[in-house]
Amino acid sequence: MEYHPLTKAIRIQTERTNEMEHSTPMFLTSSFQFENAEDMRAAFADETDDNIYSRFSNPTVQEFTDKMVALEGAEAGYATASGMSAVFASFMAFLKAGDHLLACNSIFGSTHTIITKYLPKYGIEYTYVSADKPEEWEAAIRPNTKMLYIETPTNPGLDIIDLEAAGQLCKKHNLIYNVDNCFATPVNQRPIEFGADLVVHSATKWIDGQGRVLGGVVVGKKELIKEVYLFCRSSGPALSPFNAWVLSKSLETLDVRMERHAANALSIATKLQDHPKLSWVKYPFLPSHPKSEIAKKQMQNGGGLFCFELKGGLESGRKFLDSLQLMSLTANLGDTRSIASHPASTTHAKLTEEERQAVSITPGLIRISVGLEYADDILNDILQALEQC
Ligand SMILES: *Cc1c(COP(=O)(O)O)cnc(C)c1O
Repeated sequence: MEYHPLTKAIRIQTERTNEMEHSTPMFLTSSFQFENAEDMRAAFADETDDNIYSRFSNPTVQEFTDKMVALEGAEAGYATASGMSAVFASFMAFLKAGDHLLACNSIFGSTHTIITKYLPKYGIEYTYVSADKPEEWEAAIRPNTKMLYIETPTNPGLDIIDLEAAGQLCKKHNLIYNVDNCFATPVNQRPIEFGADLVVHSATKWIDGQGRVLGGVVVGKKELIKEVYLFCRSSGPALSPFNAWVLSKSLETLDVRMERHAANALSIATKLQDHPKLSWVKYPFLPSHPKSEIAKKQMQNGGGLFCFELKGGLESGRKFLDSLQLMSLTANLGDTRSIASHPASTTHAKLTEEERQAVSITPGLIRISVGLEYADDILNDILQALEQC
């Protein structure tokens, strides 16, 4: 019987040991033994699927990977030590000197650093396009453009990119379509259904969901993942089996957690909409979001993040953070505990003022990662902090 991906996220399991444990075993081993010389030869010749060494494969890591592959509707995947190693591998496996990368400009800060500082060192060119001007993307494609890289919802502005339209553009120009699906998670949005060739994740965020471990994964078409695997097998960003075990357990509850995160976020964002201290509130499923129709087409719910702009700008931003009593100030998102961040002074502080403006990071922008605390407690914390601003 073919099960639904949500069932697979719970039921996919590595082989049990002789103890017949119900929960999943953890294989904390760097290498695997062989019975004899012939078995070892066959494994090294890729004639069998036997595990050789945990930089290549490990059963606990495979369990997490297989669940992610099922949830995203992909063919194959490779799990990495962090989201950034997944992003980096997805570039290095496919781009070479002379190639051109087209990327949306509102992306995660470290991804921006890889694209602007490291890829050019290896002769890989890039052009940034704007999330809110998709009509300008096609003109930026060159004969040597190899890949389109996007995030949606974007970080931290929560703009929405039409996944289907971007997929059609990639198909027309034969580009590898690479989507960072970290903000939505596969229970909310599956870019492969809209034509994505590769989907990358920071599993550190909603997928772990409790702020415990780092992890990442690249999933996609089999022949592309083979290249990612070969790059990672040699360069070594393998996910630790312990982290994979934590993340695999997390996937069993991802769907129910994300439903509550999104319900909390929608109710709080709705109640803050007309607050006198705010110039605007942005959440993908609020009718006031300029792309809410596209968000509803491609997402199951609006996700767990919303943002707003304090009328008082930078000073108010600091005051707001200092006044919070419940919420955490931390460089993360996607946790059971609600988190407030001020991108202009933290995650995007390395960008120039001009670059920040280009990706709508205004001085008073606050991003809230809505946790699983009781929704009114989160709302009341925000309201009392706004009173101080
Ligand atoms: C955090 C994050 C990353 C990087 O993931 P790490 O696990 O921190 O390396 C990449 N993309 C997005 C959208 C993120 O939020």
